[in-house]
Amino acid sequence: MKSVQILIVGGGNAGISTASQLLRKDKHLQISIVEPSEFHYYQPAWTLVGAGIYNIRKTKRTEASVMPKGIDWIRGRVEGFDPVNNRVSLSDGTIVSYQYMIVATGIQMNWNEIKGLPETLGKNGVCSNYKFDTAPYTWEVLKNFKGGKAVFTSAHTAVKCGGAPHKIMWLTGDYLRKHGLLNKTQIDYWSGGSRLFGVEKYEKSLLKVAERNHVHMHFTQKLVEVDGPNHRAKFVGIGKENEGQETWVDFDLLHVTPPQSAPDVVRNSPLANEAGWVNVDQYTLQHKVYPNVFSLGDVAGIPAAKTGAAVRKQAPVLVNNLLAYKNGWALDAKYSGYSSCPVVTGYGKLILCEFDYTNQPRETFPIDQSKERWSMFMLKRWLLPWLYWNQILPGKM
Ligand SMILES: Cc1cc2nc3c(=O)[nH]c(=O)nc-3n(C[C@H](O)[C@H](O)[C@H](O)COP(=O)(O)OP(=O)(O)OC[C@H]3O[C@@H](n4cnc5c(N)ncnc54)[C@H](O)[C@@H]3O)c2cc1C
Repeated sequence: MKSVQILIVGGGNAGISTASQLLRKDKHLQISIVEPSEFHYYQPAWTLVGAGIYNIRKTKRTEASVMPKGIDWIRGRVEGFDPVNNRVSLSDGTIVSYQYMIVATGIQMNWNEIKGLPETLGKNGVCSNYKFDTAPYTWEVLKNFKGGKAVFTSAHTAVKCGGAPHKIMWLTGDYLRKHGLLNKTQIDYWSGGSRLFGVEKYEKSLLKVAERNHVHMHFTQKLVEVDGPNHRAKFVGIGKENEGQETWVDFDLLHVTPPQSAPDVVRNSPLANEAGWVNVDQYTLQHKVYPNVFSLGDVAGIPAAKTGAAVRKQAPVLVNNLLAYKNGWALDAKYSGYSSCPVVTGYGKLILCEFDYTNQPRETFPIDQSKERWSMFMLKRWLLPWLYWNQILPGKM
């Protein structure tokens, strides 16, 4: 058995930036990160990869290169949580005991829940920006598209970056307009949600973008099957008025946002709330039953949008509160639910949505951020990736 002081499960955006911030506060802390992957990914750029304006290779670095100095990297996967005994078990059978634990495993993509999807994803015009391997295929499909039916889906579950399912749709619309193909195309958006965007101010702007691209929108619809060779997808109604109604839709291009959940290892553990996410307080990020356990990022059971932008605001709160708990002090840092979603609405156009738990705008810049702007597109294309690798992961912001 291995014993550690602070155990972080997951070396993604949340795990690495939190470890870096903890070390900046106190370099004597002994921190171990359990992370199985050899690589670390900058996922927000996959939207741009799918639109042919970002090199997929630039979204991937070795995990070793982002691991903060002084961290003990345990190369493995947690397969069981035993918070009563302050232990986790790894896939190779090792038991690790901890004094404090931070759960940052991210979200799980449930591709298998859609019949026929795993077999056809990456061919037959079926693409998804939600995977490193398939984001480049989105661009392949788009650049070879000659008009027809373009279908975009969003899941009925929580998803990471709620804007990503329609960002690629706006980019597609813009691309087709520029190539004289928009009037030969029907764009449909099939979503498991009940509206386009949860913050009214931004939703108003996005509805105009939908109109400009002649998008037909269908809500409370769950994708259940994809028949790739025959270019057909099946949806089932999940709203009060359409419950159980089945619709088959033809497509030439199908962009899928898979259903998502907390990883099985979390949802089957004592750490989970009823919905399967880590059961933490939405303000302090401390576990409601096991006080030496904290969580942030996509796996945290809080009603915030699941984005890297949210992680940036959660990490300092968690660091402050974990150290306060360790010292026996009150947990006085509070997370407001802040998240940001840079919704790319075309090539060189972006609406920078920022909001908190109240679903009210919380804007950084003294301009109307609900307008499409070139400057905000430049922020997403150039500044945010640089900040991610050079400031956020090293814990400088
Ligand atoms: C297409 C797309 C577009 C996006 N666009 C944006 C955007 O514009 N802006 C934005 O802010 N965010 C965006 N995001 C979301 C952002 O990438 C995530 O919210 C962010 O990465 C969450 O960080 P995390 O650390 O919680 O999860 P991740 O970064 O996914 O890291 C989780 C880590 O945990 C590890 N792990 C999993 N299970 C275990 C286990 N059992 N044991 C040990 N380790 C484990 C994984 O290997 C992984 O390294 C986008 C995401 C996608 C896919």
